Amino acid sequence: MTKTIQEVIDLIIAEIPNAPLEDSVDTFKCGDPGQEVSGIVTTFTATLDVLRRAVELDANLIITHEPTFYDHRDNTDWLDDDPVYAAKRAFIEKHQLTIWRFHDYWHMHEPDGIQVGVEKVLGWEQYEHTDNRYIIHIPPTTVGDLVDHLKQKFGTSTMRVIGDLAMPCQRIGMLLGAIGGTNQIKAFHLANLDVALCGETTEWQTGEYIRDAIAADQKKALIILGHATSEEAGMHYLVEWLQPKVPDIQITFIPVGDPIAVV
Ligand SMILES: [Zn+2]
Repeated sequence: MTKTIQEVIDLIIAEIPNAPLEDSVDTFKCGDPGQEVSGIVTTFTATLDVLRRAVELDANLIITHEPTFYDHRDNTDWLDDDPVYAAKRAFIEKHQLTIWRFHDYWHMHEPDGIQVGVEKVLGWEQYEHTDNRYIIHIPPTTVGDLVDHLKQKFGTSTMRVIGDLAMPCQRIGMLLGAIGGTNQIKAFHLANLDVALCGETTEWQTGEYIRDAIAADQKKALIILGHATSEEAGMHYLVEWLQPKVPDIQITFIPVGDPIAVV
């Protein structure tokens, strides 16, 4: 049974409570949704390298969590004749790739598809969740042991931390992605977090807030995973979620990892 790209996307959106939204960034960024699907790639972000891999796999539908053209709404007017944008656009057109963003709807899925994927990697699904799932009550540990666990599960040798590694912790805020410094600070206070895991932080806001918290003897710590590391497991989990709905289509997750090297 063949399917068009549009039919696959309709199947996905039908599973999302309160979708479709009137205003969402989850739109086609390029390509032709009327084409028959030859294969699907899921990824945190549709980098040029991901697109090359998709062509090798003969996949013409790329489902990406983050933008393709460096703007939340993938508005490209401001890029003018930027050569990086031009190279990516030319590759997409040459290979007739269709890219669809799955951001708002995947977070709206119940439970949040990104968070489920991350919890599966961390082995945290069985722990108590509160506050619409975004606080996880892990067994008592220290920030240092928590960092070791995260490094092991995410396969990284370094991690950015603001806080005291000897501090005991149990209430963990899952502030995945880039929710902004103000929202991170509010979450620490309103949810009385011991530790927050974030994707990106705003150093002059949350970074200084944690520094002041420690100086005021209030026990808090922030672990900065990097945006891709904090969310891409959710796009891996998407394969498991989507495959039974389209059993005849090959779906491949392509990891991108963190773009920043610590040297
Ligand atoms: Zn996200």
